[in-house]
Amino acid sequence: MSSVSKRILVTGGAGFLGSHLCERLIADGHDVLCVDNYFTGRRANIVELLNQPFFEAMRHDVTHPLFVEVDEIYNLACPASPVHYQHDPVQTTKTSVIGAINMLGLAKRLKAKILQASTSEVYGDPVMHPQPESYRGNVNPIGPRACYDEGKRCAETLFFDYYRQHNLRIRVVRIFNTYGPRMLPNDGRVVSNFIVQALRGEPITLYGDGSQTRAFCYVDDLIEGFVRMMNAPDDITGPMNLGNPVETSIAELAELIVDLTGSRSRVVYRPLPADDPIQRCPDITEAKTILEWQPKTDLKTGLSRTIEYFDKLLAKGPGLEHEATA
Ligand code: NAD
Ligand code: UDP
Repeated sequence: MSSVSKRILVTGGAGFLGSHLCERLIADGHDVLCVDNYFTGRRANIVELLNQPFFEAMRHDVTHPLFVEVDEIYNLACPASPVHYQHDPVQTTKTSVIGAINMLGLAKRLKAKILQASTSEVYGDPVMHPQPESYRGNVNPIGPRACYDEGKRCAETLFFDYYRQHNLRIRVVRIFNTYGPRMLPNDGRVVSNFIVQALRGEPITLYGDGSQTRAFCYVDDLIEGFVRMMNAPDDITGPMNLGNPVETSIAELAELIVDLTGSRSRVVYRPLPADDPIQRCPDITEAKTILEWQPKTDLKTGLSRTIEYFDKLLAKGPGLEHEATA
């Protein structure tokens, strides 16, 4: 528990990462306001917190102005899975850009510290490996991922302009593929897809030939990075890469999940989606040296915990999968 209790706003607080962050901040003794429009978030993710006296949930869309009183803001509101952010791409860009403007405006009025959940997608399909923060990226501005990538890039621009123009205390973290309990079974991202398919004995849908790579970070490690970044001195603005720098091919991931679940599922090959990055891995030298942070959970351990979560969730049967498990 930290010595000073703060009032903290978490936008996207009912989502996968947001709910873990709210839980951590409550455990640290803070007063937490969770704001979410429940597009990809669920009340079930925060149901355990609802009876805590210092936790409050508000249904609100960040593309509309918000008037509350807080000391710190973590801005996470935005669908993160390609399937969900491409469902209504115009709304995705609005959430990132107008949402950032609204939350920065709020932070400015309150003189509050504000952290932006940015993404490795700002690097696009990178030509530099691993990706350091100084790499400016290779994003297709008119492709199907652009609503997310360019929205997040513009949000970073807004954060740094508020920092330079209004002396706002900002933090920007670039998150690399993070997984764990509370991802949605229909989330569409690779870890949840493969685990759900393996547990149900359905075919594992490998896009492309599976040689594309990602680096997978377990949720608890990432949340520790968030908190360290927020609590760092004010000259530490980022952007700061947060991720687990162990590059893994998607084919290897499929094999590992089949192995860990003891599934009989076979791999089926599907076309690689447009603009799917071929190689991705963070350079986390800055996080290591400045925040003294690095992930502690290896892929096998993190996947085992996530498999356990989905196993319990799916055991509830169709229609009950929205109920809280962890
Ligand atoms: P998620 O989809 O589970 O969570 C996003 C949350 O934001 C959901 O609860 C959703 O309902 C809410 N939301 C969406 N639009 C909103 C709006 N207009 N107003 C209010 N709430 C809104 O995804 P996540 O994995 O928890 O991601 C959280 C944040 O972290 C996102 O900003 C995402 O871009 C970023 N991020 C995540 C990853 C990852 O691997 N998990 C990687 C890079 C960046
Ligand atoms: N992927 C896959 N099968 C799936 C879902 C995803 O092979 O059922 C691949 C996808 O093409 C990408 C990688 O897994 O190469 C990671 O995809 P995800 O959607 O999790 O995240 P992102 O592409 O945003 O990193």
